[in-house]
Amino acid sequence: MLPLRSKLDSGRFFYTGDDIVTKDPVCGMNVDENNSQYRLEHNGKQYSFCSEQCKNKFEQHPEQYARSAA
Ligand SMILES: [Zn+2]
Repeated sequence: MLPLRSKLDSGRFFYTGDDIVTKDPVCGMNVDENNSQYRLEHNGKQYSFCSEQCKNKFEQHPEQYARSAA
């Protein structure tokens, strides 16, 4: 039985096993892809956002944010 702490220790940089952490292309925040409620597909790529506000910004200027995320 592993204590919870060892999971945290191995999960530095917000990476914990199956969780995929990506960056909100609008504000640069780390977003957990599995838990994000704000997702969008653009040019066949999935984007996750921290909030509806960021998602709306991306929707208005997708080319601006999609480019900087590369
Ligand atoms: Zn954001």
